[in-house]
Amino acid sequence: MPYSYDDQNIFAKILRGEIPNDTVLETEHSLAFRDIRPQAPVHVLVIPKGPYVTYDHFAQEASDAEIVDFNRAVGTVCKMEGVEAGGFRLISNAGEAGVQEVPHLHVHILAGRPLGRMLARA
Ligand code: 5GP
Repeated sequence: MPYSYDDQNIFAKILRGEIPNDTVLETEHSLAFRDIRPQAPVHVLVIPKGPYVTYDHFAQEASDAEIVDFNRAVGTVCKMEGVEAGGFRLISNAGEAGVQEVPHLHVHILAGRPLGRMLARA
């Protein structure tokens, strides 16, 4: 099934400057900003500027330049936020089972407290 991107999602509005955000890093193809409802002392979202719904969509259809830029942005944010020493978690929720709230690819970088096991049974 082809991926269908809804350009009215909240992160598309952030990228167009229609909604403010607390920017951590901006690069040619990516934007990193603080989550509005942080679940850890460090909770940064990294998104590509392009219209990708999920990680698999991005990995299949983005250009090499976008993919490199995005991954470098994740690394740069990890360094800026100093998460290597204490450890961190990188999460990308997708679709219904993944309970994805915003249909624009984002990875969560979470750190600054013990984060518990990866999954809890619902
Ligand atoms: P998801 O469940 O899709 O993986 O996560 C979406 C995340 O986006 C949530 O952690 C939520 O708090 C965050 N979020 C939703 N709306 C906004 C917003 O307008 N600004 C920011 N900075 N984060 C948002």
